[in-house]
Parts: sequence; structure tokens; C-alpha cells
Amino acid sequence: MASDLSDLYQEILLEHNRRPRNFRTLDDPTHQADGYNPLCGDEISLQLRIAGGETVDDAAFQGHGCAISRASASLLTQAVKGGSSAEAMAKFDEFHRMLTEPDAELDYDLLGDLEMLAGVIAYPTRIKCAILAWHTLKAAMAGEAIATTE
Ligand code: ZN
Repeated sequence: MASDLSDLYQEILLEHNRRPRNFRTLDDPTHQADGYNPLCGDEISLQLRIAGGETVDDAAFQGHGCAISRASASLLTQAVKGGSSAEAMAKFDEFHRMLTEPDAELDYDLLGDLEMLAGVIAYPTRIKCAILAWHTLKAAMAGEAIATTE
């Protein structure tokens, strides 16, 4: 990591990296996908349980990778759990905008804790690390087994 990230940003990343939320496997997932970011070597397996095709009852991930990819996956599981699958996709779009459009007017209510990763926009090579879990989520919901950032 670059040394000039804000203390807060580093602290949150380190905390989620050290104790990732929902870092486990589900017994009865309805959707799952594996994501790869060849640029950094990040690998994530994401599992979801979506009741009746609507509410995301549970979300969990496994895998290994850099601190940003792990923190992002951890934040993702928290962000989508308990919401609708449409809401999860809306969060994907907003998160993607946050990391790729410097002047975008963002919906911070929708983003919630995902805003913690906003600083990644200043590190173009790390954006794929942050977005990997979300591409994996999108693949899982679309019934695709593999997602890649390439
Ligand atoms: Zn990475």
C-alpha cells in the first residue's frame, strides 16, 4: 500500500482485512461464483442465499488476495445482506461510479460503509482489487460461475 493514504482509510482496510466479515461458507447457497483478478492475484469465492429470488438472506466469501480485495469483499457481504437483489445491483452501479468517475454525484445513503473505499480511485491499479468482489456478485446473480476483472 502507498503510505499517503489517510489514517482512517488504512485503519478501516486493515480492520476488515484482519477480521473480514462473513468470511465463511454457506451450507445452502442458491448462487455462487469465483472471481479472479490476474493483475494482483486476488481470488474470491462468493456465495449467496437469495430467498424466492428476491431478498439476499445471507452472503459469505472465501479466498485470498490483497488487503483491498478482502476488505471490499467483507464490506460487500455486509452491504448486500438483508436487502433485495435489485438493491445489491444498484449498490454495484454506485460503487463502480465512485471508483471510476471522479466528479460523480454519489448517493451516499445507498453506498453506506462502501464509501470507506472511495480513496481507491486515486490508485488506478487497485481499482480492480476493490471491484473484484462486485463483479463476482454480479456473475453469481446472473448464474455465471466465473468472473474476472480482465
Ligand atoms: Zn489486489
